[in-house]
Amino acid sequence: MKEHKLPIIIATIFTIIILILILVFATKKQIEIETIDLGLTESQIKNHCHIQYFSDDKKLDEYEMLDGYLFKDQEIVPIKDNFVFNGWYIDSNAERVNYSTELNCEKNNDTIKLNAKWITTNEWNNIKPSVSIPILMYHYFYDPNNPTGEMNSNVLSSADFDAEMKYLSENSFYYPSWLEINDFLDGKITLPIKSVIVTDDDNTATWFNIGLPIVEKYKVMATQFTITGTEWWDGHSYDNLPASLSKYVIMRSHTNAMHGPNRGEFVGYMKGGDPNLIANDLIESAKRLGGKKEVLCYPAGEYSDSTLDGLRMAGYNLGVTTKPGTVKFDSIKLELPRIRISSGQDLTSFMGIFN
Ligand SMILES: [Zn+2]
Repeated sequence: MKEHKLPIIIATIFTIIILILILVFATKKQIEIETIDLGLTESQIKNHCHIQYFSDDKKLDEYEMLDGYLFKDQEIVPIKDNFVFNGWYIDSNAERVNYSTELNCEKNNDTIKLNAKWITTNEWNNIKPSVSIPILMYHYFYDPNNPTGEMNSNVLSSADFDAEMKYLSENSFYYPSWLEINDFLDGKITLPIKSVIVTDDDNTATWFNIGLPIVEKYKVMATQFTITGTEWWDGHSYDNLPASLSKYVIMRSHTNAMHGPNRGEFVGYMKGGDPNLIANDLIESAKRLGGKKEVLCYPAGEYSDSTLDGLRMAGYNLGVTTKPGTVKFDSIKLELPRIRISSGQDLTSFMGIFN
């Protein structure tokens, strides 16, 4: 009899354990379900609007957007004989809308119509020589109340950067996207005379801690030229970058692994490189950036014919250098100049860039 009881005892204990486990998991599941039911997703809290793009009463595109989001960075560029596309406008008096414009969707389920504006080709041909777009080049920052680390002309005081971004924001500058710059150079679209692009190279901790919160504060659209590989300057790596720090900051390529940890090592990486190796690096970088091949920032501004071949092979549209100057209608796409902003430059001199 004893031999027969043992399996029954074991079976009973086993059943009790299973029952306890079921009870524990069922309770946990219930808690999870409750959390989901109580939590509201962003789309339930925010209004959403239907965005429609019209050119001469013809609807070209439509999508939905949540209140407070920025308009999509995409190429919806209508074409009309003897005219140049002059931008998207919500109504004739409003500001030109692009990827730096925040959606104001006051009424849920509302439809917001964007209308194409046009300018005659003859008129634009007279205006376009006066369009001169500065691409501002920033690097590192410091807090004047607590200056730490190495100081050189590329390290800007947070107070100076704040004053500069405030100036852009208060003077209603237009922040063209890289797609718009490409279309402008192709002669497909106009760009406002008061256009500017803000860029930061290398994205060290000083950018994330000091620079980025300032562009966020003033809603100034900025491009982070990021090394997408594992090399980095100050312990950061692309893989451990904080995600979506600001909707006003976009990430574009500063190569994948052709920058190097220090200047001595990286000089010449791209300049003397094999175009195939360069193209492979840039394709990998674009992959990590969600397929973005709009623009590359040359490490230390160095490039050669073989670098340019590499860019073409990889399918990049634009390249920014460290050569001084502004973007004009006839600038060379893969050799766009920039304006270096140096430490100690006063606001008057900064304002002089735009006059
Ligand atoms: Zn760099």
